[in-house]
Amino acid sequence: MVTGTIFNIQRYSLHDGPGIRTTVFLKGCPLQCWWCHNPEGISLSRELIWHRHKCLGCGACVRACPRKALCFTQANLSYDQEKCDFCMRCVEECPAEAVEVAGQIMTPLEVMAEVEKDRIFFKQSGGGVTISGGEPLAQPQFLLALLKLFRSEGIHTAVDTSGYGRWHDLEQVSRLTDLFLYDLKLMDDSLSRKYTGKSNDLILENLRKLARNHNNIQIRVPLIPGVNDDAENLRAIGQFMRSLGISKMSIHPYHHFGSAKYEKLGRHYKLPHLKPPAAEDVARARGYLERQGIMIIN
Ligand code: SF4
Ligand code: SF4
Repeated sequence: MVTGTIFNIQRYSLHDGPGIRTTVFLKGCPLQCWWCHNPEGISLSRELIWHRHKCLGCGACVRACPRKALCFTQANLSYDQEKCDFCMRCVEECPAEAVEVAGQIMTPLEVMAEVEKDRIFFKQSGGGVTISGGEPLAQPQFLLALLKLFRSEGIHTAVDTSGYGRWHDLEQVSRLTDLFLYDLKLMDDSLSRKYTGKSNDLILENLRKLARNHNNIQIRVPLIPGVNDDAENLRAIGQFMRSLGISKMSIHPYHHFGSAKYEKLGRHYKLPHLKPPAAEDVARARGYLERQGIMIIN
């Protein structure tokens, strides 16, 4: 039985496709976007999260760990991922709920059992399931198994993707997906390499192919001040969409709600001083795109 690693199942999502949705977040992403607000979705592996502000410094987690994966020095809990087998002893022994594990291994049927709880809302609102991440294509066999199961149950499916994956996988996924939410961030390749860690060649080429195969694609643009909100980039995105016959887009202004997660995961956040765009900057970006005939749907 195929299994996958999931870091969240979010019920009552209103911004991940039509109607009320359940969003299933798969772990693993080949990109390293500077603004990522789900850093716990980047690694394919499960990870330990330490909440410094809750920690009492009692050392119970270190004593409980049978594999000596934890060390508490100078008010800092360090963690050796190579040694950890996710036995959860540290989580169970912590009196302050200051440690948790990001990532749970699940079968498609276990995911379905969670999704089932909201089925009544899907029917009433025209909603369904959205599979997001991380990057869902990072776990292609699990993604396909989920999509097959949801389709067999008559549940509407959306896949939220960066487009960075093998075309062979994306093509199979496209046959089982009702709606694609496809991210476009940067049209300039050198900026894409700088801010996401990858060339945009594969992303753009996959979208060209997908547009020939699938007739329900919405583009998602995260609006990051000073990174991709300039007229040149937005116009290039609009032109590319029009060349493919795609007209719908949603704009997602930058927020820093995920920045606190970086420290908990022992990672560095590269945009600590960036502020969300002002309402007039979002309106300006909207204007650039609408003047090119792009329909902004949020
Ligand atoms: S999950 Fe288990 S092995 Fe991993 S750090 Fe905690 S106690 Fe140690
Ligand atoms: S058991 Fe919890 S509170 Fe105690 S040191 Fe470990 S993380 Fe901190």
